[in-house]
Amino acid sequence: MRTAICPGSFDPVTLGHVDIIRRASKLFEKVVVCVVYNANKKSSFLTLEERKEHVERVTADLPNVTVDTWSGLLVDYAARYEDPVVVRGLRAVSDFEYEFMMALTNKKLNPIVETIFLASDERYTYLSSSGVKEIAFFGGDFDQFVPPEIREDLHRKIDGRSQ
Ligand code: ADP
Repeated sequence: MRTAICPGSFDPVTLGHVDIIRRASKLFEKVVVCVVYNANKKSSFLTLEERKEHVERVTADLPNVTVDTWSGLLVDYAARYEDPVVVRGLRAVSDFEYEFMMALTNKKLNPIVETIFLASDERYTYLSSSGVKEIAFFGGDFDQFVPPEIREDLHRKIDGRSQ
């Protein structure tokens, strides 16, 4: 059985992420969302556990989706599964170069790890976690970009930081 692995920082999870996870859950029997510690991203807004809990909450209605955390190489995580397929969302041409490089690097590290890309839904092509964070930090209204189930938590977190 092929397992789809949807890796990402999800800091925070956005409607764009949820769309990719939902679509992967229709294409694969089993989907694991892997919330990763990304060494390239200097500091995170939410902890790994908070991000995992948020993704669990927004995917609770999808029985074939589970959520995990990982602080290492993605290929090492993927190797736990038989025939793993990494699923990534592609928003725009600007995503392509990085994603292409990552897919080829992962393939070099472990040839059993395939990567496939799902084109972002046109409603979410502009949407990113960093954009949401920027709006939130400057007091803007970010509600329309994130799933309703986590809005209150994000507001609480932002309020806690600004005190
Ligand atoms: P990373 O730190 O690995 O870039 P992200 O949390 O930013 O993690 O993204 C996780 C995955 O979700 C990536 O495949 C990314 O391309 C995809 N993604 C992020 N935002 C969107 C969006 N608006 N539409 C579709 N895919 C998205």
